[in-house]
Amino acid sequence: MSKVECQCCKKMMVPKVITSAPFYISGIPVGGRAPESSVCPFCLSPKWMLTEHQALAAGKANAEFYGLMVLALVNIVAFVRFGELVGGIALAVSVATVLMRARMIRALRRRLGRKAS
Ligand SMILES: [Zn+2]
Repeated sequence: MSKVECQCCKKMMVPKVITSAPFYISGIPVGGRAPESSVCPFCLSPKWMLTEHQALAAGKANAEFYGLMVLALVNIVAFVRFGELVGGIALAVSVATVLMRARMIRALRRRLGRKAS
């Protein structure tokens, strides 16, 4: 990774990536490990970047985090209200959605990249 200047403390640094903790549903870790945001290692500010592209990337990471939160909540409700069978199905559908979404975003990026170049 290349060093960038922190917009808060003006030091040259490599942004520290913060990863989300996984959710545990019936002992199964769900989500987590995906880069959530990045902070300056010196002043710990998440606002080290001010460029539009980087701000958008942070916004997207937040949107993904809330998406995972909603999926986790849906799974918890399914477990509590309908028992393990339906909960298990909901969990499988959620995991499939997350995996498919990653693939779709990658395909979209490739298409956008081609358009931009
Ligand atoms: Zn800083």
